[in-house]
Amino acid sequence: MRIILLGPPGSGKGTQAQLLVQRYGIVQLSTGEMLRAAVAAGTPVGLKAKEIMAGGGLVPDDVVVGIISDRIDQPDAKQGFILDGFPRTVPQAEALDNLLRHKHLKLDAVIELRVNESALLSRVETRVAQMRERGEEVRLDDTPEVLTKRLASYRSQTEPLIHYYSERRKLSTIDGMMAIDEVTRAVHRQLLALGAVEPKTHVRSAAKAAPAKTGAKKAKAAKTPAKSAKKTAKSAKKAVKGAKKAAKKATKKTTKKVVKKTAKGAVKKGAKKAAKKVTKKRAKR
Ligand code: AMP
Repeated sequence: MRIILLGPPGSGKGTQAQLLVQRYGIVQLSTGEMLRAAVAAGTPVGLKAKEIMAGGGLVPDDVVVGIISDRIDQPDAKQGFILDGFPRTVPQAEALDNLLRHKHLKLDAVIELRVNESALLSRVETRVAQMRERGEEVRLDDTPEVLTKRLASYRSQTEPLIHYYSERRKLSTIDGMMAIDEVTRAVHRQLLALGAVEPKTHVRSAAKAAPAKTGAKKAKAAKTPAKSAKKTAKSAKKAVKGAKKAAKKATKKTTKKVVKKTAKGAVKKGAKKAAKKVTKKRAKR
């Protein structure tokens, strides 16, 4: 599956892309991430992009198209990918069409996340606060001033892509103001409707992950009470048997003791009687 996530900065493209990666096992290709990595590594591309990115402008089309073309050829992208932050201009979209055609690959869908502009600033502020909390380095372009520029460039250069893909019947628009998981569900429904994912995908992955295990666990749990009841009954039987045996033994022992005692007593009594008889006889004499 190959999809494009379209939306202004702070619309949740990155968050949704990561969730889709987990769900469908495809890779996220974010030009912003790749450019930040290039800047950090100090590569020629990074050196070219650094200033432009810090100012909220767009890196030249040929640079990002080159990066994406190389990345799509990597083995991990064979299963499919989500383009996050690319294309950002009509020439980039045309270049993408060309390179996909050359590579004999088909684009399944373009998902636009539509959000209220008023919410974007607070979303980016939240992202910055969360990154600080996690001890991560905050993006240089996540400031109110640069965000304003990035929004302006989205409106003038990226928004025309909505028309571009809608004309080609590739566009699906989703309300990006919903809760994160609701947006994910809406994206999944769209992908199902477009035939980009099989209806089974959800069931299969769900069955693979949780329900199968839950089912097994349930069966185990259902078996457990019966098993333990059987076990308890068995051990109770054993205990009764043991108790009976012990009682028998004890009775035997006691009886033996009593018999012994009685016998002893009888012997003693008999001996005393005999001794008395002898004494009496002797006295008579
Ligand atoms: P992002 O992480 O997608 O918000 O991108 C951060 C910055 O990287 C953007 O503000 C641009 O400067 C640059 N950038 C990312 N993707 C592109 C692209 N497709 N075309 C031009 N510049 C880009």
